[in-house]
Amino acid sequence: MGKPTGFMEHQRELPADRDPLERVRDWREFHLHFPEERLQEQGARCMDCGVPFCHTGALISGMASGCPINNLIPEWNDLVYRGLWREALERLLKTNNFPEFTGRVCPAPCEGSCVLGLNEKPVTIKNIEATIIDKAFEEGWVAPQPPEKRTGKKVAVVGSGPSGLACADQLNRAGHWVTVFERADRIGGLLMYGIPNMKLDKQQVVQRRVDLMAAEGVNFVTGVEIGKDIPAAQLRGEFDAIVLCCGATKPNDFFTKTEGRSLKGIHMAVPFLHANTKSLLDSGHADGAYISAKGKDVIVIGGGDTGTDCVGTSMRHGCKSLLQLEIVPMPPLERAPNNPWPEWPRIYRLDYGQEEAKALWGEDPRAYAVQTTKFIGNEEGHIKAIEMVQVEWVKGENGRSAPRNVAGSERIIPAQLVLLALGFSGPEAEVLDQLSVEKDERSNAKAQHGSFATNVEGVFAAGDMRRGQSLVVWAINEGRGAARECDRYLMGQTQLP
Ligand SMILES: Cc1cc2nc3c(=O)[nH]c(=O)nc-3n(C[C@H](O)[C@H](O)[C@H](O)COP(=O)(O)OP(=O)(O)OC[C@H]3O[C@@H](n4cnc5c(N)ncnc54)[C@H](O)[C@@H]3O)c2cc1C
Ligand code: SF4
Repeated sequence: MGKPTGFMEHQRELPADRDPLERVRDWREFHLHFPEERLQEQGARCMDCGVPFCHTGALISGMASGCPINNLIPEWNDLVYRGLWREALERLLKTNNFPEFTGRVCPAPCEGSCVLGLNEKPVTIKNIEATIIDKAFEEGWVAPQPPEKRTGKKVAVVGSGPSGLACADQLNRAGHWVTVFERADRIGGLLMYGIPNMKLDKQQVVQRRVDLMAAEGVNFVTGVEIGKDIPAAQLRGEFDAIVLCCGATKPNDFFTKTEGRSLKGIHMAVPFLHANTKSLLDSGHADGAYISAKGKDVIVIGGGDTGTDCVGTSMRHGCKSLLQLEIVPMPPLERAPNNPWPEWPRIYRLDYGQEEAKALWGEDPRAYAVQTTKFIGNEEGHIKAIEMVQVEWVKGENGRSAPRNVAGSERIIPAQLVLLALGFSGPEAEVLDQLSVEKDERSNAKAQHGSFATNVEGVFAAGDMRRGQSLVVWAINEGRGAARECDRYLMGQTQLP
């Protein structure tokens, strides 16, 4: 621990993001960095406590408490404080293949369990992580490192999201020949076509990592859907092992029975975000191959990262107004008594999209405890408004709370574009069925966390496909774990962590 009194001398400080009113006019990343000295002060706040909860990654009440990939946080905080950036990088890369992704998009459960957070503001762990890796790239410290020896074994990884990429990276380091199959035209899964460019730059951050991995020997094949363009069984013949990392891409649609659901202008969030990023990357939006929110009253139904990304994207298109509906009540400003440290704090946050809407229109665009009851169309069959109602959460006989409509609270709100950000129900079944892989009760690929082996010999599963809809950091955890077990299967033993 470099500075025993650091946590008493320095307050938590983060670099300001780009001005919301300026950044809504472009698609460039909104993150900015601190000068090094300021960041060193933040590193000095780490107390190197006896039990660093920040890197445990334990599940408490179903949520991660601490870093799910067990980043060696107190070690690199100290090294940053002492200005030993290269050493900090070495420690960081021991546990995290892609800190440039997590340092931008992770919700940072590590900070929720930081011991300093008990009575002070937590250490700015995520920002320090991002700065270590960004500096490393700037300084040229991150260069291709192909393995010295090849084992001659061949592995197919299906899906190129963070779990597939982490898995491929680890297996390649172990000396196996890895081919990653991706049905989209670009590599990255939701890193490429879910999370928008202003949160995670596609060319400078995602593609940079893909190019590095390609230079290290990973073979990327795009535009190929396993199960359709290549039968899954064919992979069994051509590869020594298969790791399935296809994500959980089947969307939830709670409104299938709601009046007016089939009206034009109501879209699922991910296709909306995917088309927007593809058009941006292909032509700077000149091809018009995206759903535009320009000049429209937009309603985003659902919260979370996906809802926020729909807000941020619609703002950049130049929407006329924006309302985001949440069925749950507004969370408290501080931890509630039933949500103690070191649990993930379930508190009110103003994420980047809502911050931008507030800067432009003066208030957070979210309405809480509301439910959509009807979609109303015009004569051309296009959405023109929604009917919504206030709900109250009432405990039923089974002890579980459920929403109940408040009589007389119906309102009609104009909307020419409605985006549904309601989460995902599980992976698509085609590849699993073709390989006869068993599914669990939630329709995910059935495999234990830790072994990642499915019921079919030599076939492993990881990421959202095994876990269900989750986070980038969990996808990296799973991809690394599946690589370790796949290596053990191929070689009889493994050195992979
Ligand atoms: C809009 C949005 C925003 C998000 N924002 C955040 C965030 O800010 N922070 C965070 O931590 N998490 C976020 N998440 C969650 C996070 O992105 C996912 O948990 C994570 O990407 C899962 O990784 P994965 O590798 O398991 O799957 P994915 O990233 O879903 O990748 C799966 C890939 O497999 C491909 N594929 C599927 N089937 C086949 C097939 N048969 N053949 C070939 N390829 C196939 C798909 O095209 C896809 O590219 C967000 C999710 C969404 C939808
Ligand atoms: S990956 Fe996420 S949880 Fe882990 S140290 Fe980074 S920000 Fe924290």
